[in-house]
Amino acid sequence: MSPVPKPPVPSPLNPSPRFLMGPGPSDVHPRVLAAMGMPLLGHLDPEFVALMDETQDLLRYVFQTTSRMTLAVSGTGSAGMETVIVNLIEPGDRMLVCINGVFGARMQDVAERAGAAVAVIERPYGQVFDPDEVKAAIQRVGPKVVGIVHAETSTGAWQPIEEIARIAHEAGAMIALDTVTALGGIPVEIDAWEIDAVYSGTQKCLSCPPGLAPVSFGTRAVEALNRRKKKVQSWYLDLTMIQKYWGSDRVYHHTAPISMNYALREALAVVVEEGLEARFARHALNGRALHAGLSAMGLSLVTDPKHRLPQLTCVKIPDGVDDLTVRRRLLRDWGIEVGGGLGPFKGQAWRIGLMGYGSRQSNVTLLLAALETCLRDLGVSLPAGEATHAASAVYAEAAK
Ligand SMILES: *Cc1c(COP(=O)(O)O)cnc(C)c1O
Repeated sequence: MSPVPKPPVPSPLNPSPRFLMGPGPSDVHPRVLAAMGMPLLGHLDPEFVALMDETQDLLRYVFQTTSRMTLAVSGTGSAGMETVIVNLIEPGDRMLVCINGVFGARMQDVAERAGAAVAVIERPYGQVFDPDEVKAAIQRVGPKVVGIVHAETSTGAWQPIEEIARIAHEAGAMIALDTVTALGGIPVEIDAWEIDAVYSGTQKCLSCPPGLAPVSFGTRAVEALNRRKKKVQSWYLDLTMIQKYWGSDRVYHHTAPISMNYALREALAVVVEEGLEARFARHALNGRALHAGLSAMGLSLVTDPKHRLPQLTCVKIPDGVDDLTVRRRLLRDWGIEVGGGLGPFKGQAWRIGLMGYGSRQSNVTLLLAALETCLRDLGVSLPAGEATHAASAVYAEAAK
């Protein structure tokens, strides 16, 4: 007899339908869900290997790079962050990390664990760095690598990158860029901006489940990798070995998560079908409509309009309104998930995502109407219908 009794037989899995309008995961495109249900190929099957080649080409398009070392690491966005850091950093190397939110802080933690001598510069949550302060810090620290986040998902801040990358190169440093929430939602130009190492994730604006981390290394980063004196500290994330599987050798390293690679391939195909420009324009328009609606409700947004992301909006919770009461009701009555605040914004702000497939006019209208209903029921005095009206005016203007 087995000492652990048999549990009750679970009924077949049947998750409730949701509108995933938080900081990720975002709603998955139906084509991607269908791809995940397809029969497996072996991880060295010629057909699967061809799918990997195709995925690399598609990733080069979304990253706007011709770099050979462009592939999907097995793991979520944080695995991408760790891959970039452990492959570039050897113990004792100096790294400068720019922190204006949770993900910059995570980069510092990962870099310290990898043995980097980390220096940080900080900006209050919601703000972005200006090139001059980064320049001063680079001159002071003399880093091998500068780490920075393009789209800070904890605050909704959109960090301009091009100038900072130029400054880093002038000082002989490499730049490592977090595009987890940026990729597929706002322009990311890896070659034009000369980004040395970049990582992303699948579950934000690519509208794919979490599970893979697109990564790309440019020439300088590949050279630094080849010049290492010590082995990469992580066996699993060692690009010198992983590239032999993604490259022409096809040497087994670890078993590729087959269904996730199907999903990413299909998600990228959807991006190509839409085209990057059209995709960015769609995100921009829906973001503008949401921002207009929230402002019409009298709510204030955390970031200033110049540095406000369209795909992730951090909005302050009105005085006297309980965070969880509203989020629970949105989920229960409308199936809408939005995110709570992180760090100093815990209990103080909501994070509303309009990412990838979820960036749609119907989602904007539904969220605004549902949020307005919640707030009015809680006694917040709001002019009825103003929010959806303001959003609809943005769409009407764009259609002219
Ligand atoms: C979500 C996110 C990450 C972490 O990705 P996971 O998939 O949760 O591991 C890193 N950076 C940014 C900017 C993110 O939004």
